[in-house]
Amino acid sequence: MNIPFHRARITPDEIDAVNEVLRSGWITMGRATLAFEERFAAAVGAPHAIAVSSCTAALHLALVVLGVGPGDEVIVPADTFVATAEAVEYCGARPVLADIDRDTHCVGPAALERAITPRTRAVIPVHFAGQPCDMAAIMDIAQRHGARVVDDAAHAFPASIGGAAIGSCADLTCFSFYATKTLTTGEGGMITTRNPEWADALATLRLHGMSRDAWRRYSGETSWRYDVTRLGYKYNTTDIAAAIGLGQLARADALRDERERIAQRYSRAFAADAALIPYAIRPGGVCAWHLYPLKLNLDSLTVDRDRFMALMRERGVATSVHFIPLYHFTHFKGRGWSPDGFPESEWVFAREISLPLYPGMTDAEVDYVIDAVLGIARANRR
Ligand SMILES: *Cc1c(COP(=O)(O)O)cnc(C)c1O
Repeated sequence: MNIPFHRARITPDEIDAVNEVLRSGWITMGRATLAFEERFAAAVGAPHAIAVSSCTAALHLALVVLGVGPGDEVIVPADTFVATAEAVEYCGARPVLADIDRDTHCVGPAALERAITPRTRAVIPVHFAGQPCDMAAIMDIAQRHGARVVDDAAHAFPASIGGAAIGSCADLTCFSFYATKTLTTGEGGMITTRNPEWADALATLRLHGMSRDAWRRYSGETSWRYDVTRLGYKYNTTDIAAAIGLGQLARADALRDERERIAQRYSRAFAADAALIPYAIRPGGVCAWHLYPLKLNLDSLTVDRDRFMALMRERGVATSVHFIPLYHFTHFKGRGWSPDGFPESEWVFAREISLPLYPGMTDAEVDYVIDAVLGIARANRR
């Protein structure tokens, strides 16, 4: 059997919706985008949602509206996708790394508190694998230090903590609709917020800082004339993407349930083997299950993580690693960061393997992945 790491599933209805946009004569940001924003905002219980071209663009704009700039520090997890830190550097600010928790792979309150300084303007929690961070504690710490919270929710739709949807907790929340994410439009992103002034600023910033977007001008609803009120960006989305997003949004809860059932089967199967560490979920939250991060108990095995992945590949199962900690990258050399400073991130990185997890995986495929993991663990026991 050959099991890919991810397989996007676009329904015939979603393809029809794209065709409708293509035939309509207006294919970039317009009516479908407005509808997508409205329904997404309702889904996460936020008054405002602004669609953009990616989560990376969303993170950048969120920091721009907060006025983050040179001299400022923004706290990000040491073990996250590079986009989280890149957005900080786009603003000329300095990313400061906080170590992750070895069970959840999220940044916990204690690590956050340790990373805060008087220069901290914002913190960016990442809801790893779709597992919500402890938002009550994070909001409280940030408020006490006069810092804002921008959620990197690239993995976390739909997810909630203490009954509050991710998207309604932080000052600004950034979602990704990249090809492998839980809701996909190929490429795309969304920012949600409760603050109407930030929402207005984001709508302007995503399209060149123009006072009225092109759709409203060409539709004849308003005059052709516009102003450029500030330096903006080309970060808008398209109605082609929004049409896919609207369809995916309607199925989001059912798709999450399907991923959770697969994740629970993985966890049950791996809990019985001392060489395997199932992904830990803290009580009180609903996880979006973007990833299934298995960890290896290296003390019980004669092989390391890379060899384990190669053996999975030999059996036809594609796996991945989330993530390479930022301090390993060439770009970040010379910042005074070293593996010694982030023991938990280093510990997770040596042990983590992300398994295939997506709706449409058959029971036979899930069984096959489980058998491959258990078989390799048994054959390479110390
Ligand atoms: C995928 C991802 C991003 C970037 O999302 P894009 O939509 O591709 O820009 C940011 N942060 C994390 C944690 C991600 O996994």
